[in-house]
Amino acid sequence: MIRFINVHKWFKDLHVLNGINLHVQAGEVVVVCGPSGSGKSTLIRTANQLESINDGEIWVNGKNVADPKTNLNALRAEVGFVFQHFNLYPHLSVLDNITLSPIAVKKMDKAAAEKLAVQLLERVGTAHKQNAFPAQLSGGQQQRVAIARGLAMQPKVMLFDEPTSALDPEMIGEVLKVMKDLAESGMTMMVVTHEMGFAREVADRVIFVDHGQILEEAPPEEFFLNPQHDRAKQFLRQLL
Ligand code: ADP
Ligand code: MG
Repeated sequence: MIRFINVHKWFKDLHVLNGINLHVQAGEVVVVCGPSGSGKSTLIRTANQLESINDGEIWVNGKNVADPKTNLNALRAEVGFVFQHFNLYPHLSVLDNITLSPIAVKKMDKAAAEKLAVQLLERVGTAHKQNAFPAQLSGGQQQRVAIARGLAMQPKVMLFDEPTSALDPEMIGEVLKVMKDLAESGMTMMVVTHEMGFAREVADRVIFVDHGQILEEAPPEEFFLNPQHDRAKQFLRQLL
């Protein structure tokens, strides 16, 4: 479903992605972890071209995403993205946040888009907030709405960039629960997170990134019990 082939990215002379090779199978959940500044956000952002790359190839669902001819709207319909800071449109109601792209990009009619939106809001437990504005919601509710918004495009892949790190602790669980349900429904997911409980329980594989390189790639039980690299061991110790 997702294939990174020798991907390189520079920000000026900073080599942020240094030869990334990674395959994510359909239905797989891959957790990406690593120190701050190691390139995790840049890595997942390249998969829907929120960031361009300088060398290598990225294929998502059979499309070469870095090809300048790729239609970015079509690509982003297939690859949903959930941000750390939710990024809901503040001037739109919850319902309108969700129906905007299906109507504008997928040309869904309004009634069908709203029906789908309500179903998705029920799935993430925020249907009672459909007429509220984002500022009237808790962080956990906003993030669950943001997940529903991504799902409204009926994507093949969902990418999450530290989706719970801006939340108060008591709201982290409700968002992780929605993500776990999504994983169990068979969605292909790449999740940047330091929630190691989620990684243990839900991930098929954990990727440890440092200085723009994948240093380890292992099933969670192996990664947590027996990390190979000193940098990974040090990172895991800091999380305890
Ligand atoms: P992580 O998500 O692992 O914390 P990032 O992918 O955000 O790391 O960043 C990797 C490196 O690239 C960091 O040194 C960061 O400062 C730098 N960086 C990220 N985005 C930009 C940008 N738009 N312009 C210049 N440097 C950037
Ligand atoms: Mg980041």
